[in-house]
Amino acid sequence: MTEQRSPAILVIDDNPQNLGLVRAQLERAGYRVTTAEGGRDGLAIAAKEPPDLILLDIMMPGMDGYEVCRRLRVEGYARTIPVLMLTSLQERADKLRALEAGANDFLSKPVDRAELLARVQSFIRMKQLYDELEEQRHDLELQAHQLAAEKSRAEGILQSMAEGVVTVDLAGNITLFNPGMENLAGLTFEETRGRRWTEALSVHTLSGQPVDDETCPIHEVLRTGLPATPRDLTLWRPDQTMVEVSVSAAPIRQAGGDMIGVVCVFRDVSREREAARLKQEFIGLVSHEIRTPMAAIYGFAELLISREQLSDKARGFAETIYHEADRLSNLINDFLDINRLESGRVPFHTRSIDLEEVIHEAVRTLSIQSLQHQIVLEVEAPLFARADRDRTLQVLVNLIGNAIKYSPDGGLIRIAARQVDDQACITITDQGIGMPREALGRLFEKFYRIDSAVHRSVGGTGLGLAICKQIVEGMGGRIWGSSDGIGHGSTFSFTLPIALPLAEREPVERPPRATSGRILLVKDDPNLVALILEQLGTAGYVVEAVTTGEEAITRTRVDQPAAVILDIGLAGEMDGWDVLSHFRSDPALSQIPIVMISGRDDRAQGLALGVDDFLVKPVPRNRLIECIRKFVGEGTEGARPVLIADDDPNVREIHAEALQSEGFEVVLAADGVDALRSMQATTPVAVILDLNMPRMDGFQVLETMKQTPELAAVPVVVVTAQQLEPDEREQLSNGVAALLQKKSSGSAADMVDVLRRALEPAAVSGRPGVK
Ligand code: ADP
Repeated sequence: MTEQRSPAILVIDDNPQNLGLVRAQLERAGYRVTTAEGGRDGLAIAAKEPPDLILLDIMMPGMDGYEVCRRLRVEGYARTIPVLMLTSLQERADKLRALEAGANDFLSKPVDRAELLARVQSFIRMKQLYDELEEQRHDLELQAHQLAAEKSRAEGILQSMAEGVVTVDLAGNITLFNPGMENLAGLTFEETRGRRWTEALSVHTLSGQPVDDETCPIHEVLRTGLPATPRDLTLWRPDQTMVEVSVSAAPIRQAGGDMIGVVCVFRDVSREREAARLKQEFIGLVSHEIRTPMAAIYGFAELLISREQLSDKARGFAETIYHEADRLSNLINDFLDINRLESGRVPFHTRSIDLEEVIHEAVRTLSIQSLQHQIVLEVEAPLFARADRDRTLQVLVNLIGNAIKYSPDGGLIRIAARQVDDQACITITDQGIGMPREALGRLFEKFYRIDSAVHRSVGGTGLGLAICKQIVEGMGGRIWGSSDGIGHGSTFSFTLPIALPLAEREPVERPPRATSGRILLVKDDPNLVALILEQLGTAGYVVEAVTTGEEAITRTRVDQPAAVILDIGLAGEMDGWDVLSHFRSDPALSQIPIVMISGRDDRAQGLALGVDDFLVKPVPRNRLIECIRKFVGEGTEGARPVLIADDDPNVREIHAEALQSEGFEVVLAADGVDALRSMQATTPVAVILDLNMPRMDGFQVLETMKQTPELAAVPVVVVTAQQLEPDEREQLSNGVAALLQKKSSGSAADMVDVLRRALEPAAVSGRPGVK
């Protein structure tokens, strides 16, 4: 704290005795006192060191008190110093004269001590208050200057900015409209001043609706008192032309914090939107145009490779074509993916995901490529992140894939995951070719590839890490890479928000647990059904085909398949999208993985609605199997199913249940045609056959089976409610392992029993065992 100096008083009097007396009295009271014995001296002292108060004798030789006072009042420094006249004059005229000269008050001589001190104190106090006021006035003046400068700066900005700025008061009436806004809206400030902005401006949503309380940023600010997120809207001018605008709004507040209005900024984004639209169209068009011939090159190359009579050289060529086509289609897919991610049109389906499980899946997916590598997992479990499972898997596959790819001599790949604060941190470390320090800052740029001989020798698009970054950041995480230099391996890490603290973890959406290894194919087109049955059947998968969404739902309720392959165009009332939304909203079905197949690339929509994978036709066999393997695991060659062909869904269900509980794999068919189609894909271990079925009855099925070499030896148990005519019995006696009547409640158990016996080696010969 600065020490307060005691007030200074100047006493001017030609009488040294008086001077001495007054001085002594004032000094005793704690004032600092200077004295002068004449007017001129007094003025000189006051000019040098202006005092807080002057006591001034009137009658002095040379310059009298009146004159001194007058001069003091014209000097700037002394204009505000209080002057007390010391006088023995009593005349009213003398006092008036003194006041006219600028004195503040009088003290009569001889001076009374008490009166002197009381007056002095009061004038000193007055002087101090005056000084304080003066200081405040000075500060205010300064502030006013600054405000004026700021105002003119703000006005300059408002006048010159291209963006439109509008302010409204709390009633929504326009209070300001800058030239930028005049340009955008085709209106002048004068035309809009004081009008309700909703009436003065014609603002619509992108779908053409006038903005309402929900869609209007100004309303949002008035309602919430908080800044509104920018909205994409359209602004119509009086001449009926339109501009696309991004509109943001924020409250205007008084110093006390009360909202007094809203400021709203309109930015013309027509050009940006047009450019984005064109880019999107261009990319869509180009990729479609490339994809179609690519599918043909890919498919025929695949076909050629599988031809046995091909010479080694020709096969080599075909393999090159196949791999290059594969590379090109990966590039296109990556390109489309990053384009979609960058446009912000990719929704993330965040939920609580088990990182350990996703990491295991990523490793499983890549295990074929990593025979020379030793993959070590150090996963702190349980570890759950709030993230999109498929996209997280994509990032992991990319990073682990890079770790494998960029360590061509093999080595250790360590995948660690643990919780750090409120983030899950996943780190992938390899012992591969490493990265130079100067490259680290550019790794996540699109198309960036490290320009060194060792790096160039490994193929790639330079898009993988850019995609990873978009995904990780889109899910609220961070990603980075590090290395001790070329030859010293690399480490890539990313974070994801932790799902919930351990104690309050919500039930976790685990990956679907299949209750059967069967795949349900929901598809209408018989040729494609046959193709997929063939492709998956030969890979050891048991596939059951249905043609309508309604059937798919009923089948899945009865016996959950390991995965559903769903086409968009279906017979029946529901299309693929309807089926998908039904599956995803029904808790009993929501966990089942759904792979959608379509002729159009509606992947984004599919993922948005919850499909687990999306395949665009034509789907190469490998791609289909790879996708199914993700959800179902390897196909099991030889684990052949029992086919239940019956048009009564209840009977199918009862039999399926009975067989599954005995450990049999089953596939179902609702009529003879389905039954044969299914048998052609996968030869069943036995058939439970109803006789009376639509489209093709059991007799015809048996007949066809007899004529088909692979099916002729398959044991058939006929289960029928029909009373058979003798000739029908005769017909069945050849080639049917057993005949059961559908009537007793124990028939399902009987059926299993009979089936078991039929499957014993002696029975498989087709010996009739009619009961
Ligand atoms: P690419 O398809 O080329 O692999 P990415 O975007 O996945 O594209 O990676 C960009 C570049 O970063 C790669 O070309 C490579 O030079 C470098 N890189 C990525 N991962 C590794 C790694 N594990 N070790 C060494 N270099 C890597």
